[in-house]
Amino acid sequence: MGPFTPFERQELILKFCDAIEANWDELCLLDTLEMGAPYGRSRREIIGRLRFCAGLATALHGETIATSVPGEAFAYTLKEPVGVVGAIIPWNGPLPATIWKLGPVLATGCALVLKPAEEASLTALRLGELLLDIGLPPGVINIVTGFGETAGAAIANHPDVDKVAFTGSNETGRHIVRASASNMKRLSLELGGKSPHIIFADADLEAAARSAAMGVFANSGQVCCAGTRVFIEKPIYDEFVARVAEIARHLKVGNGLDPATEIGPLVSGQQLDRVVGYLDIGKREGAEVLAGGGRLTEGALGKGFFVQPTVFANVGDSMRIATEEIFGPVLSAIPFTEFDEVVARANDTRFGLAAGVWTRDLSKAHRIAARIRAGSVWINCYNIFDAALPFGGYRESGYGRESGIQQLEEYMQVKAVTIQVG
Ligand code: NAP
Ligand code: MG
Repeated sequence: MGPFTPFERQELILKFCDAIEANWDELCLLDTLEMGAPYGRSRREIIGRLRFCAGLATALHGETIATSVPGEAFAYTLKEPVGVVGAIIPWNGPLPATIWKLGPVLATGCALVLKPAEEASLTALRLGELLLDIGLPPGVINIVTGFGETAGAAIANHPDVDKVAFTGSNETGRHIVRASASNMKRLSLELGGKSPHIIFADADLEAAARSAAMGVFANSGQVCCAGTRVFIEKPIYDEFVARVAEIARHLKVGNGLDPATEIGPLVSGQQLDRVVGYLDIGKREGAEVLAGGGRLTEGALGKGFFVQPTVFANVGDSMRIATEEIFGPVLSAIPFTEFDEVVARANDTRFGLAAGVWTRDLSKAHRIAARIRAGSVWINCYNIFDAALPFGGYRESGYGRESGIQQLEEYMQVKAVTIQVG
């Protein structure tokens, strides 16, 4: 069988969407069983993303370019698949994370070796089976399990892998960058963050409080773009943190299979130790616990990896809980007084993945969006993802973009063809 044409790739992605629809409940269940998130994924996010890539599969094309000697030379570009892609993903959202890699691979005609996290491999394996079921030849999409230090490193170092698409921690990201030097692999890196969420006094405070809380607590805080540094304008600081703490106290933490559950457990005992460690650090640093502050200890949940949604007040900018990625349900509430000051403090981080801004003043919103150094800025909302929007980091949050048309460029080579016509 020869290479798939764009039309065949489009048909295949659409068939894959149908297969995912038909197995939707099982895929959602696998995610919950593996990493504990409340049952149910966004169909718009998962299937819509694949359909977006299906649409683009037949719309990818090069350009004709006038050279500086128009009568003598004529040129055009060809877009070609980059080749073999190695994808390495974390455990915090197995179904979405796998789809984010599969969509552009299938649309551009690359081949893929994907290594899911050991904590949560089943969803990716099942998606691989579904691709075989719908007729993808074996060997095009390969799901390879194993630990990062062995299986992941083998992908990152392999001379026949042309590009690595990595999502995960900054520490591992650095290993991937070093490994890429062996054969000058292309890289896209979607790493961690410590994103600011800025609340001005003129905001819709009820909606902003809900957004600030869920911007951290959703998925138990195991979200790369979580808005964990919540900057609050001084006149509303006390009232606002009280609202957020109230929301935190009332969130239903529990088994992801219980329909009433809003916040599930952390993924593992290792992650529990890490997050509880940060709760202790925050207390020692002198931050004030307004809600939560520890793991759940009572009954059946006391035996699991459950942490109370936690709000720290009086957090100083240089405290570890305000500078390091915790990856747990831990919010730092920080007061500010002026526009320029909060811009500077929000940008005073080595990360740059996302930011949120709440204000009813449109010009203020646009001015701050232009000055924030981050790949996504959400105004009067948070954590809105869309297949059409590029997503990725500034600074140590990584490079390259996932999602949007921009993502497909990262899976393609561009070749310039020049013909002398003079
Ligand atoms: P991680 O080490 O970065 O793991 C992400 C993926 O990389 C996993 O599939 C992992 O494999 C693999 N990996 C690990 N070492 C590797 C290496 N040397 N070469 C190639 N691949 C390698 O993240 P983690 O240990 O699971 O989580 C630790 C912390 O990272 C979290 O607490 C959080 O702060 C951060 N994190 C951030 C994100 C994000 O989206 N920004 C996601 C996950 C974690 P195995 O784990 O299967 O061995
Ligand atoms: Mg790991």
